[in-house]
Amino acid sequence: MIGSEGAAVYLILGLICLIMSAITWVVLAHQRSHAAAYWCLGNLLFAGGLLLAWHEQGTPGWTGLPLANLIALGGLLSGVQALRLDQGAPWRPLGMALASLGFLLAYEFTRQELGQTTLRAGFVTLVWLLLVLQVAWWAWRIARRRRSTGAMAIAASQLLLAVGLLIHLAELLRDASRGQASTLHLLHIGFLGSVGVLTVLVSDVGFIGIILERSVRERMEAAASQARVEERQLLSNQLAQLDRQRSLGLMAASLAHELKQPLTAILASAQAARRGTAAERMEPAQSLELLDKVILNTRRISGITDRLRSFIRPGAVHSAPVDLVRITREMLELLQPDLRRHGVRVAFPAAGPQVLVQGDAIQLSQVVLNVLRNAIDAVHLIPDRSIQVQILRSDREAVLSISDSGPGLDPDLADRFGTPYFTTKDHGLGLGLSISIAILEQHQGNLTLRNAEGGGACVDIRLPLLPGGGP
Ligand code: ADP
Repeated sequence: MIGSEGAAVYLILGLICLIMSAITWVVLAHQRSHAAAYWCLGNLLFAGGLLLAWHEQGTPGWTGLPLANLIALGGLLSGVQALRLDQGAPWRPLGMALASLGFLLAYEFTRQELGQTTLRAGFVTLVWLLLVLQVAWWAWRIARRRRSTGAMAIAASQLLLAVGLLIHLAELLRDASRGQASTLHLLHIGFLGSVGVLTVLVSDVGFIGIILERSVRERMEAAASQARVEERQLLSNQLAQLDRQRSLGLMAASLAHELKQPLTAILASAQAARRGTAAERMEPAQSLELLDKVILNTRRISGITDRLRSFIRPGAVHSAPVDLVRITREMLELLQPDLRRHGVRVAFPAAGPQVLVQGDAIQLSQVVLNVLRNAIDAVHLIPDRSIQVQILRSDREAVLSISDSGPGLDPDLADRFGTPYFTTKDHGLGLGLSISIAILEQHQGNLTLRNAEGGGACVDIRLPLLPGGGP
């Protein structure tokens, strides 16, 4: 039987547990953590068990000490479970229920069969000791893995409690071996009580630390990985923009030629108009015709510069419905000077219906330009120079196929096409295809290279079709 000093220890400990349980719950409620819920429940049960034990003397038979011990045991189990949950290794609820039942049966056995209070107290103390050691062990694991000071505090305080319980157990065993009833000295009760209070306080504060540390760490990791994604995105956008600038740089000579033609036409029209006006021989219809030519060619120049400017514009990716037919035609127009210079014939149905996909028009144009430029590079040194462009639709997909009459792809190098920095060209960078593949991945699309049946290479660009994106 516990004496009045022992009962006072149960009362104080029980109340402190109750208060700490409430504080822990208030602090951790918004974390919505199962571990925190188990910990607080454990505290609550442990407090309930202690308060019932304090009240035990006035409670008859079965509902007294056995129930108090069972509830306290449930509390300790729940505390261990909280730490195990934090480590992703929880006990099964059935196992916990069976353990509690086993405890109850063993307790009843000692009570009814042996009838010895000392032995019974020893049994309960041993179970408590084992569970306290479990708490210390799991807390130590957390401390070691996460360098958590909170967990280290729990482990240390629970070990101290384990030492107190061990001394208590030794004394109980000594009393039992002498056949005496257990007698708790005031000093011993004071020691156990103080260690218990300290353990409850330190463990609860430590547990709050574990959960908050974890939550802050998780949020920091999420922020860091978000930053990494954004940084990668920024870098790939910058790389894509540099690639576009390089493409235009490579086409600069032809583009200059492309601009020179309308400029020359404007100059010729302006000179003719001036001469006619100066000689006062200009009919109004003639001057209107010359002015129309000036307007037409100025529009051509403005169209070319607009396309160039928007093609190399930096800045955020802008997702909108994009007509694959339109951007393919625009890129073919941009490449017209190169195609003419190398005498490359292009087969692309002149007027086709729209094929709409969702994405960034500039980035998708860049993909088409890269593939077309590779096709021109592949054919420009052979006599038969032709490129076929085809856009097909299925229920969900648009496929833009660009095939050429070039030498095709070396099957031994099949794995390497499209990997960064792989090039077979003297002045190649080996980035065009890999940038295109990255752009298409961002658009939930893909790019495949294959040798066409009639010879030459064929590149298929696949993109999800916008619902209603084509007839
Ligand atoms: P680069 O054009 O700088 O070499 P790419 O990534 O665009 O970089 O292309 C990588 C390689 O893929 C090319 O060097 C070439 O060997 C191969 N390749 C791409 N398209 C074709 C094609 N149409 N025909 C033959 N080889 C091609």
